Parts: sequence; C-alpha cells; structure tokens
Amino acid sequence: MQKSTQKEHLYKLLVIGDLGVGKTSIIKRYVHQNFSPHYRATIGVDFALKVLNWDSETVVRLQLWDIAGQERFGNMTRVYYREAMGAFIVFDVTRPATFEAVTKWKEDLDSKLILPNGKPVSTVLLANKCDQGRDVLTNNGIKMDQFCKDNGFVGWFETSAKFYPGTSVEALSSNHSKHDHH
Ligand code: GDP
Ligand code: MG
Repeated sequence: MQKSTQKEHLYKLLVIGDLGVGKTSIIKRYVHQNFSPHYRATIGVDFALKVLNWDSETVVRLQLWDIAGQERFGNMTRVYYREAMGAFIVFDVTRPATFEAVTKWKEDLDSKLILPNGKPVSTVLLANKCDQGRDVLTNNGIKMDQFCKDNGFVGWFETSAKFYPGTSVEALSSNHSKHDHH
C-alpha cells in the first residue's frame, strides 16, 4: 500500500546500442528476473517499469526505454530521447563491430539530447554477454576506463543477461519458469 507521505520519482532511462547486443534481455532480466534464449527483435515502442522502494518515504520508478527495431539505422529521433535522465549504451563482447558502434551511439545521443543544465545525459557503458568470454575487452587491448574518460561515459560494467557472475544458479532458477534453465 502506498503511503500518502511517499514521494515518487519517475526517471526515463534509455537503453541503446546495436541490434542483438542484448538490450531487451538486460531489461527483461532487471525488471522480470528472467532470460529467454529465443531471439525476438523488439517491435514497436517499448518500455518497462522497474519500481524501487528506495526508502520508507521514497518510491523510484525507472522507465527503461527499449529501442524498438530502429537500431538498424544506428540512430534515433530527438523525440525518442526527449526527457531521458540517463542512458545505457550496450555492446556485445563477442562482436567487435558492436563496440565500434558505441561511439556512434554516444554521438547520436549527445547531439540530440542536452539536459536543462546544458550538460549531456549521464551514460553508462555495458559490456554484455560476459558469460561468453571477454574477447573484445582483452584481445583489442582496449583500456576501458580510459575509453570511458575519452568518450564521456560515467563508467562501464561487464554484464550478462543470461547469468549473473557471483550469483548461484540455484538462486537464479528460483525466479525462473522451467523453460529458462540453462
Ligand atoms: P537486442 O536486439 O539488443 O534487444 O538483443 P536481445 O535482448 O534480443 O538479445 C539478442 C540475443 O542475444 C538473444 O538471442 C538473447 O538471448 C542473447 N543474449 C542477450 N543477452 C545475453 C547474454 O548476456 N548472454 C548470452 N549468452 N546471450 C545473450
Ligand atoms: Mg530488442
């Protein structure tokens, strides 16, 4: 039950990056605690809501905006980005081309979205599918911290929508439907 004294905050967060890097899967994992190995390109405008009971007085609603199939074009409209409070740019550690696209996505975002204070929106880089290895991160000798500094990212994380490192499979599967075991 919601108390009348609770404050609500709604934040629009963008999740962008090339096709197939795992944007929809990351959102699904975060919001619904599940993962589907079946590929389904997102169609139509889509967002998911994650409600965080921040503390007894504060509710935070994260509106996670998923790209709706337009990622083939490598850019989005200004209208799509409008009023976002933050962004995640995702690449797939197994596909170098998706990492090369990261700067292009960042430029597209920064050219179309400027916060009321004149600054670009805070953007975090996600190196997804880290359950598949870290080839792109290690082979190319990319210094990720330096890359983030040079390209205006507030930071980066290795992620997996399929498997959380450090989390037991048992803990994960308690939230899974029987089709989601791996
Ligand atoms: P999107 O196009 O960026 O939304 O990518 P999807 O979320 O549709 O994922 C594309 C494919 O990659 C699907 O087959 C997913 O099951 C798979 N996938 C997504 N995230 C991961 C991950 O972290 N690890 C692995 N192994 N596969 C993933
Ligand atoms: Mg998708």
